[in-house]
Amino acid sequence: MSRTILFNANAITMNGAEPRADLVCVEEDRILFVGGKDKLSMLKGSNDTVIDCAGMTLLPGFIDAHCHIFAYAENLVSLNFSPDARTLSISDMQRTISSDCKNKPPGTWIRGKGYNEFCLAEKRHPSRWDLDAAASSHPVKLTHRSGHAHVLNSLALKEAGITAETGDPPGGLIERDLATGEPTGLLFGMGQYLANRVPPLESSELERGVKIASDTLLSHGITSIQDASFANDWSRRLRLESWKEREILKPRVSMMMGLKEFSESGLRSSIPRPGGVKIIADQITGTLHPSQEELNAYVDAIHKAGLQAAIHAVEEPVIEAACIAIEHALNRNPKQDHRHRIEHCSVCPPDLLKRLTGIGVFVVTQPAFIYYSGDRYLDTVPGEKLEHLYAIGSMRDSNLRIGFSSDFPIADPNPLVGIQAAVTRKSQSGVQVSPQQRISVAEALYMYTMGAACANFEEEVKGSLAPGKYADIVALSEDPFAVMPECIKDIRVQWTMIGGRIFHV
Ligand SMILES: [Zn+2]
Repeated sequence: MSRTILFNANAITMNGAEPRADLVCVEEDRILFVGGKDKLSMLKGSNDTVIDCAGMTLLPGFIDAHCHIFAYAENLVSLNFSPDARTLSISDMQRTISSDCKNKPPGTWIRGKGYNEFCLAEKRHPSRWDLDAAASSHPVKLTHRSGHAHVLNSLALKEAGITAETGDPPGGLIERDLATGEPTGLLFGMGQYLANRVPPLESSELERGVKIASDTLLSHGITSIQDASFANDWSRRLRLESWKEREILKPRVSMMMGLKEFSESGLRSSIPRPGGVKIIADQITGTLHPSQEELNAYVDAIHKAGLQAAIHAVEEPVIEAACIAIEHALNRNPKQDHRHRIEHCSVCPPDLLKRLTGIGVFVVTQPAFIYYSGDRYLDTVPGEKLEHLYAIGSMRDSNLRIGFSSDFPIADPNPLVGIQAAVTRKSQSGVQVSPQQRISVAEALYMYTMGAACANFEEEVKGSLAPGKYADIVALSEDPFAVMPECIKDIRVQWTMIGGRIFHV
């Protein structure tokens, strides 16, 4: 069995027993030994590869505990309307759409992603009529940066069967012209509804996006992802397996199942633990959807099946409803280490955090939103809520277990941005958002490695540099403890190792 010995390294292990080491020895796909370089001659055989790291920092590979690989791949091959792509107005969008129409036969779907109405000159969502002006014979579907709103042009509305007579689906909202009742094209909370009515991307196109996604994740040192999409079903799982087999997608993946799939199949028991069941709880129209009774029943069923519930809950009333549902399930069937998850937990006061800790909830949250959206939060979130926004310091103080994630494609996948944001609480423009919620570099690194591994019951094989674990390692140009906190995001990834194989980036 051949070995790869990384020596002369500054290895930050995330293993409390041995926090720093200068040698990591990998055998096949696992870590064999972590320790001092005095062991080099003892470990090295004649056929082994020895790499002098010249002081480079090694960390366990980053784990993104909540993301959406299908949507990300689709984004990467769709028109990009994010502010980074210099879309500054609705007329910019119109120009891009009409030139894309020229390259595609009429009737072909045009897909655009990532627009943010706050960053458009008009400070509003585009309407069907704005899109009609750019494309009358191509159906157009735009996805808001949050993923939770869409705009369709008139032809797309027609093809999706949405008319003035169509009622709002459960949890969704069709915006209508007040005078005529006609849909304006803007749809909230209707991603699943549209997924059943808009043809999916050609699989060759999607695979092209997956390849770009995989390279990008490796370039950020991400060795594992947990896909948290509500729309995940068995056909998606099979596609994911095929991408993995053909090595189109390099990082390890675990996939949650959507609630619909769970309800229909009860998650066929022959399939190994699928990585949680995703429930979206929301308050789009002011009332809780699903209702408290429904939420209780869903969580109870998932809990009874021995699975992990992952409840999307952003605002305090919804988080409380999720908490009640988990308490209800636990009262009926007590269980110690269930690790039911709350995804996002974006606005949560300390008393509710303590209640979550008390019932053993795991929180998976996204510190990078502080960086990307901090300026908007300061403008729009009222002070008393701002204090409890991504309250990671309070979460730590209440001993909640936490895993970090990016929620890509909602935010860029780079974990170093999230780590920097958790440490500095600074937005892109350098303004601080609730600085009392700062955490240390060590804590932030832990939440993006061990914390995220624990969120998926994978702490035995991932999350730290320790013997027996997968040889999933990232090599960084600098030590995150040694640079200014504001410069953590500028640290470069030199290479990423997955299962003992090095990918240079
Ligand atoms: Zn998400």
